[in-house]
Amino acid sequence: MASSMKAIQIKNTGGVEVLEHVIIERPKITGLTDVLVKNHFAGVNFIDTYHRSGLYKLSLPAIIGREGAGVVEAVGDGVKDIRPGDHVVYVSPSSYAEFTIANSKKVAKVPDGLDLKLAAASLLQGLTAWVMITQSYEVKKDDWILIHAAAGGVGLLLVQLVKNCGAHVIGTVSNDEKAKLAISAGAEHIINYSTQNVVDEVMRITDNKGVHAIYDGVGKDTFETSLACARRLGSLISFGNASGKVPPFEILRLSEKNLKLMRPTLNNYIETEEEFRKSTAELFTIIKEGKLDIKIWKTYKLNDARQAHLDLEGRKTTGNPKNINKVVQTTAAIEGDVSDNLGRILSLIKRSERKEWV
Ligand code: NDP
Repeated sequence: MASSMKAIQIKNTGGVEVLEHVIIERPKITGLTDVLVKNHFAGVNFIDTYHRSGLYKLSLPAIIGREGAGVVEAVGDGVKDIRPGDHVVYVSPSSYAEFTIANSKKVAKVPDGLDLKLAAASLLQGLTAWVMITQSYEVKKDDWILIHAAAGGVGLLLVQLVKNCGAHVIGTVSNDEKAKLAISAGAEHIINYSTQNVVDEVMRITDNKGVHAIYDGVGKDTFETSLACARRLGSLISFGNASGKVPPFEILRLSEKNLKLMRPTLNNYIETEEEFRKSTAELFTIIKEGKLDIKIWKTYKLNDARQAHLDLEGRKTTGNPKNINKVVQTTAAIEGDVSDNLGRILSLIKRSERKEWV
């Protein structure tokens, strides 16, 4: 039936068994700023597992997924700059589906030279890493920075971006294979947090001073370690819950070292259309210039979404040392042909040694 589509829906929260492959009605344009996208790929992100498990609330039933890339089918009357046939990438709910309605404020044209698959794998994790190093804590040359889960999706991007600011990267990982991957991305020191004492290692590496900032997407299991690794006047950017959410915290403890503690979300950095376009343009420019290597760990069929979540939660998603980001494949890939080079990034990266970008 032409008005139906395949999607991954949850009716209840829980384990991967709640992810159901369903045939439901295709969404229609109802709002002025709606963009109907025929998805070719949807990114797989840890947040999808939080929605599935109920850690982050959705009104149910819901289609899982937070980003996708595809071809525009139709647009609302108020959309001026995006037309049917455009190749686009977007941040929006309900992307594990053949079709998604996205708000035009969070839709960007895919630049020439970037295919839809890479675009889908780049946006959410790429924007997250970018805003973390430019806004949550602005990384400076010669800083010492600790990045947890350094071989993960966001982690590997953070390693590259921080390195290219001229800072020193200490990464944590859970096994040797991931260690190699993080080192190849630019980590100067790697600590296996399954077998080594992270605080001791960080203090040894930094002459007992600790690090200027910590990017912690692991959450519960690493929070105390992160606090202990910060130097006086340091910053702890706690941006995720891969091991569970951080328990309630006594704010007075920050005064021990005058620490800054932040719990940022990407959404609050790209809330307005202007913010989304600016950060997206910066990210695409870096990628197009070959300065951020985004690798795809595996492509799944839409009806393998359960396996994608199992792999992500089972910490398997760096099994192939060449790849890292995750994509659910919804239909066959096609090539992008739309130009949207909004380059502005060069001034921002002048402070770093550009030759170091990989
Ligand atoms: P990753 O690919 O980084 O996967 C998570 C990694 O966390 C695993 O590979 C694993 O690496 C590590 N980890 C440590 N403990 C556990 C555990 N108990 N269970 C599972 N994984 C564990 O995922 P993403 O790149 O998608 O996301 C990384 C983090 O960033 C997540 O916490 C996510 O929520 C957060 N995030 C936050 C955003 C925001 O707006 N604040 C936006 C996007 C992502 P290892 O095996 O090396 O330990």
